[in-house]
Amino acid sequence: MASKFTLIGSGLAGGLLAAFLGRRGYEVELFERRSDPREGNLVGGRSINLALSTRGIHALQQVGLAEQILQHAIPMRGRMIHDRSGGVHFSPYDRDPKKWINSIGRGALNTVVIEAAQRHRNVQVKFNQRCSQVDLETPVAKLVHTQTNETSTSRADAIVGVDGAFSAVRRSMQRLDRFEYSQSYLPHGYKELTIPPGPDGSWQMEKNALHIWPRKSFMMIALPNPDASFTCTLFWEFEGPRSFATMQNDDDVRRFFDEEFPDAVALMPSLLEDYWHNPTGSLVTIRCAPWSYEDKVALVGDAAHAVVPFYGQGMNAAFEDCVVFDECLAEFPNDRKKAFAEYFERRKANADALADLAVHNFIEMRDKTASRAFRAKKKLDHVLEGWLPEIYLPLYAMVTFTRIPYAEAQQRARKQDTLIYTFLFALVSFVLAVLIFFIKSIAS
Ligand SMILES: Cc1cc2nc3c(=O)[nH]c(=O)nc-3n(C[C@H](O)[C@H](O)[C@H](O)COP(=O)(O)OP(=O)(O)OC[C@H]3O[C@@H](n4cnc5c(N)ncnc54)[C@H](O)[C@@H]3O)c2cc1C
Repeated sequence: MASKFTLIGSGLAGGLLAAFLGRRGYEVELFERRSDPREGNLVGGRSINLALSTRGIHALQQVGLAEQILQHAIPMRGRMIHDRSGGVHFSPYDRDPKKWINSIGRGALNTVVIEAAQRHRNVQVKFNQRCSQVDLETPVAKLVHTQTNETSTSRADAIVGVDGAFSAVRRSMQRLDRFEYSQSYLPHGYKELTIPPGPDGSWQMEKNALHIWPRKSFMMIALPNPDASFTCTLFWEFEGPRSFATMQNDDDVRRFFDEEFPDAVALMPSLLEDYWHNPTGSLVTIRCAPWSYEDKVALVGDAAHAVVPFYGQGMNAAFEDCVVFDECLAEFPNDRKKAFAEYFERRKANADALADLAVHNFIEMRDKTASRAFRAKKKLDHVLEGWLPEIYLPLYAMVTFTRIPYAEAQQRARKQDTLIYTFLFALVSFVLAVLIFFIKSIAS
């Protein structure tokens, strides 16, 4: 039972996993390449806030953190769609007004999970330690101190890579025979910008909404922060006639924003500074298999399955991984290899389903949210949900407000859509047939 785990990466999932493992009594050493987030070293321009929903909240509840974290959260009850002329339209996420998603700061969340881990005396967190490589057989993690360049090693019974999309632990596993790996980038990148609080410290737009400026092939979104500011994220093509690549100077940027987001520009005094200063991030989907090697190495969170952010589920899924990882260790306390294999079995199809759902939701957000047909479908979803409780659940609700496995939600939504469209087709055909019958009988 006194096995030792070395965790690489104390991002969102790393901190939470350390808290889970610490609670089970394992000895845990957690290494993070960055310095302590409590020293205010958060990198600007990288998803400052995130949408936390049911799956993530459930995981936090397991270690008694949900209440503390939700105190910092801002409920977002629906999408606020902004058109080009500055008009807005609100579309609730669910027919039940008590169901919403939560805007939460990455820094605050990261700090809470790390502190929860550190409350266990058997957990040690070490910052400024970059893992360069893992020897899978021993297993030993090789580390470099990012300030002194001093090298060291950490030997453990098992090493877990919780080190994000560009995982060093996964890189070491990629040398294994028959290890599967794929990465695919969207043609779009993202850039974060700011809408500050108003002069009197007030919110300059509706606080309890996720704002979207859908513009067909690209979009901007904004999530509220506790200080009454909003973090906006522009998702736009890297290349092309009108893209990040064609912005050469302030005039180009100003003209683009004036044309596309006139209502937002008026609220963005630091637009040009933010635009040139903040990095342009890329959007990658990463799939790999298996997620473990023997009883020695495993991958959790983005290290195992990075997804694009359009379903607001990457962190939620990473937290759900932690719950399943912990459950599997509890189910097979004397067989870690089996526990790791079972964790992979329970999560892989769901991670793959989420990856597809997330890419698809980009098209929905940037293009379809602006259309009347989309709004009508959302209304129909809510009506059907009310008429057929327990039977009909919209896909968004299953993904966001339940813990139905992602793959099951995806399949169920496909079946529901087929049924609805077949029913609507039959209804329209019937109405047309009746109309034709009447017209013919009147004519004769
Ligand atoms: C623009 C954007 C918006 C997003 N919005 C949402 C959202 O609204 N909701 C949501 O659920 N998800 C969202 N996500 C996804 C979410 O950010 C990730 O899924 C989540 O951060 C994954 O957590 P993680 O701990 O696996 O990885 P990370 O949070 O990336 O943490 C990895 C950690 O490992 C450390 N590390 C990396 N390499 C090494 C190394 N070699 N040695 C030591 N340490 C290392 C890193 O410094 C980092 O601290 C968004 C992502 C992006 C890009």
